[in-house]
Order: sequence, then structure tokens, then C-alpha cells
Amino acid sequence: MRTAAVRAGIDTDAAEGAVVPPLYLSTTYRFEGLRTPRAFDYSRSGNPTRSLLADALAELDGAAGAVVTASGMGAISTVLLGLVAAGDVVVAPHDAYGGTWRLLDALARRVGFDLQLLDLTAPDAPARVTSLAPRLLWVETPSNPLLGISDLAALGEAAHACGGLMAVDNTFCSPVLQRPIELGADLVVQSSTKYLNGHSDVIGGVVASATVQLAEQMAWWANCLGVTGGAFDSYQTMRGLRTLGVRMAAHQANAASVVDALAGHAAVARVYYPGLPDHPGHALAARQMAGFGGIVSFDLAGGEDAVAAFVDGLDHFSLAESLGGVESLVCHPGSMTHAAMPPDVQAAAGLGPGLVRLSVGIEDPDDLVADITAGLARAAGALS
Ligand SMILES: *Cc1c(COP(=O)(O)O)cnc(C)c1O
Repeated sequence: MRTAAVRAGIDTDAAEGAVVPPLYLSTTYRFEGLRTPRAFDYSRSGNPTRSLLADALAELDGAAGAVVTASGMGAISTVLLGLVAAGDVVVAPHDAYGGTWRLLDALARRVGFDLQLLDLTAPDAPARVTSLAPRLLWVETPSNPLLGISDLAALGEAAHACGGLMAVDNTFCSPVLQRPIELGADLVVQSSTKYLNGHSDVIGGVVASATVQLAEQMAWWANCLGVTGGAFDSYQTMRGLRTLGVRMAAHQANAASVVDALAGHAAVARVYYPGLPDHPGHALAARQMAGFGGIVSFDLAGGEDAVAAFVDGLDHFSLAESLGGVESLVCHPGSMTHAAMPPDVQAAAGLGPGLVRLSVGIEDPDDLVADITAGLARAAGALS
């Protein structure tokens, strides 16, 4: 895995023997003659730099092919617009990423499909999926922001039993921690804005497909819709991808230290992290993931006032949306990433006003723990 990420595109330059592949910014490619295009003709449909990144990401996911898109939402749009028609049933998690929820909700009305939101972490979820017979089952595990774990193998079987397809948003894991195609996914979507690029300087996405037919269909739709990724973004993402293995290891180790500081603290009502033995999805996560990841959420007992006290004064966590970069971030999902969800939908999904999500970076763990500990003392002060 690490080797494939590091070696992506290395030594592929036939023109000059460049070790790192060059960046092709040209939007258009000269035909060899009338009716004889070369491998690439126009950069929306195909670009050499983007194509190397797509091949690398397909290999990491164990996919038949991948298409790189301009954003994670571009990847999700490609899957939904390419696969779902009026009258179809789409099953999705009740606590999906806010942007995913907004797109599903808007498209269900515009296209006329039947959106069913379920708790996919529940033990009866596979049976409920089969009884709903979806064309598409959308899964996010760990889910955002509550880190719920869904059983990919069981859900994949349930979707296939009724002739449907399973798509998995693997943004929180990257292929280093979870390989959904091996567990039965037909499509894997990621926001490469997060861990794949890892440096918070590119918006991008990818759809990887288990079969050549799906891969061709997704590439066709991404080109047709005009959501394929830019060449420079692909170049940057490939550069970030090379260190994915070492970054994920550092994120996880630091997350474990932060969880230790949170667990049992008086200001903290509950910690959501699949690595904790009392997390309801712990055993499943240990089975289907290669590690528990770098995202940690927790409820502060004092609600939104405690959140304000906690975030105001942090030195090493920036109050910002997004996740998966080398720098640590803190977010209040209720007013930030999930603000598009109406309060009743937030409440149904278990998002309380005191919920905080951390994207734990790769800084020195002692600095992060000291910062969190001081923040919790402020939050406890707001409580008393
Ligand atoms: C960020 C994110 C997306 C959307 O990706 P963009 O690159 O912001 O369009 C989708 N799913 C998850 C889980 C995310 O965290």
C-alpha cells in the first residue's frame, strides 16, 4: 500500500526520463492527422496528469478503474446522476456528511427518487435495506460526525440480494485504513480534499469502481457533467498521496493520545471514537478497518456555551471545517459542517449542541494533549 502510493506515476515519463511525472496543463492535444486522435484530445475528457492520479487511486482501492473529480461532491454527483433514475429507491445513512445529505435531499425531489434515511449502524440495517430494495445503497463508515460503524460486508450482501449497488464514502479512512471493494462495495467515493491530498490546499474527489463497466460509466458521466478534476490539482494530490501511509499512522497515534485526554474528563459527556472498547462499533471496526483513524468527536456536557469556551483559546487546533490535513482542526458540526441539516434532522441523527469534532493532525502529541486539556478546563469552567 505505502509502496504503491509512493511510486504512483514515478518513472513514467518517456520524453525526458523525469522521475516525478510532469504536469500537463494544456487543455487540448494535437491530432496526429484527420480522424487520428492521440491518447488525449481535450482535458475535460482526459488529461495525462489526472490519469496517473486516477490509476494510482484505482490501484490503492483495488478497483477496476477510477475517475478523478473536481471535488468530493463532484464525485458524489457523478454517482447519483449516473446511476439513479425517477422512481428508484436510494438508501442513505441518517447521519451522512451534510453536503451529501443536502444533495440527496435536493436531487430526490428534482429527479424524483425515493430517499430513505436509515441508521445503517443498527443490527437490523441489512434486513431493512433488503426490504427497501434500493437501486443504490449509500454508506459512510465511520460516519460523520458521530463515527458510527456500519457492517460493509453485510450491507453489500443486502444491497446485492435485491439487485442494488453499494457505494461507500471512504473519505474518513482512505484506502490505508479501509478497502470497501474487498468487502463488497461496487463504488468507492472519496473527497481527496481530506486525507488523500492531506495538506488542505486542494479541493478534489474520486470515484473508484469495482468493475470496468461501472468505471467507464462513471468516467463518461464525469466528463459529460464537466466535473473532472483539474491538472494542477491532480499534480498536487499525487504529491500528497505519496506520504499517505506515514501521515495516517501519525494521525492515528495522535488521535489515540487525544482520546486518552478526553475519556473520563468531567467536562466531557461522551467520546465517539471507534478505537474505544466501549464504542458500539468497536469490534466491527477492528475487523473491517486497519486502524481507527484520526477523527475524534465528543459531547461537551455544557452544550454550546462549553463549546465556545473550549474552542476560544486553542493554540494548535484551528476552528475550521474540513479534516484530514496535517494540521489539527476543530469543528462544531451543528453550526458548521452540518448547518444545512435542519435542527430536527440534526437531532434525529444524534447531533447535539455540545458536539465537537476534531481532525487530529500530525503535530507533536504532547502539544495537542496540552491544548485539549486546557480547553477542557475552560469548558468545565463554563459548566460550573
Ligand atoms: C468533505 C467531505 C465530502 C465532500 O467533499 P468536497 O471535496 O468538500 O466536495 C464528502 N464526504 C465526506 C465524508 C466528507 O468529509
